[in-house]
Amino acid sequence: MDIRETSSGQLLEFFRQNNEKPFRIKQLHDWLWKKNVFSFEEMINFPKTLQEKLKMNFTFKRTLIEKEVESSDKTFKFLFRLFDDVIIEGVLIPSQGRVTACLSTQAGCVLKCVFCATGKLGFTRNLHFWEIIDQFVLMNRRAIEVFGSRISNIVLMGMGEPLLNYDSVFKAVEVLTSPNGNGLSPSRITLSTVGITAGIRKLADDNFKANLAVSLHCGDNLKRSVLIPVNQSNPVQELQDALGYYVEKTKQRITIEYVLLQNVNDSLEDADKLCRFCKAFPVKINIIEYNDTGSVYKPSTLERKAAFTNRLESKNLIVNVRQSRGKDIAAACGQLTGKMAVHNYIVS
Ligand code: SF4
Repeated sequence: MDIRETSSGQLLEFFRQNNEKPFRIKQLHDWLWKKNVFSFEEMINFPKTLQEKLKMNFTFKRTLIEKEVESSDKTFKFLFRLFDDVIIEGVLIPSQGRVTACLSTQAGCVLKCVFCATGKLGFTRNLHFWEIIDQFVLMNRRAIEVFGSRISNIVLMGMGEPLLNYDSVFKAVEVLTSPNGNGLSPSRITLSTVGITAGIRKLADDNFKANLAVSLHCGDNLKRSVLIPVNQSNPVQELQDALGYYVEKTKQRITIEYVLLQNVNDSLEDADKLCRFCKAFPVKINIIEYNDTGSVYKPSTLERKAAFTNRLESKNLIVNVRQSRGKDIAAACGQLTGKMAVHNYIVS
């Protein structure tokens, strides 16, 4: 069993059987979740004998940086190699006083949203909660080296649909925000979903403390089902109901992500449908520039983008227009999913 999968009961039993003092458990916890070491040898206040016993009884699976690519705008894209040689992606994005890390939650994805290269790669497996944290730890070290500051914000918008790996994602957020873990504020973490309604309701019931973003991209049910096939089983009306439930329980505002695609979802009628979708709860809308990757879809023209945005603002909605980042390394915003577009990078 991996050391990071052990329960406190199992650890207590291990330390008791090996005649080790219980205070070592707290030290072990700190090494794992505060100091974020990647081996038993790094636990330097443990005697060698204890390090050996731990090594003999538990595995400590490593995540490694396989490749790092820097964009001209200082966005960094990472490929991580997991213990079983599966490759996943992460992105580090510096911007005005903050450093944001975009983390993957699954290797591949089963949902096949039409623009998403991750969906085209197929699904390999869910990530363990500690593999989600490993991406943070490895990128945080690089952020300190490169930008001279720690990661300030996390977005769960990389490969995969977070709510289809619910338990690992929830636990990763718990550890990242625990004072006994990395101690990040929940307000600095955003989970982005394409709209898995059961997962959204569960987040509400579990009193999820971080931010929730929904990649809507279309308020029309039929059209959305073409763009995001999982909409067929999680239709717009049910998504709206689930978000209403979420807001009622958590009292938190939701972010709606909307990538503007020329002549697909950028008409004034589309804007009105988006307004109707948003009328039921407090939202902030992020309009995202589509990153043209040579597909049949094209970014909206400046005129259509302005008209669409003005229509939303005329209905008193809060709208932010987001620019793509790291275009030259395929790491910026701009895919249909509204994610940080680690998706349009095919691992070679
Ligand atoms: S956009 Fe997200 S949910 Fe859709 S296929 Fe890509 S990774 Fe999966």
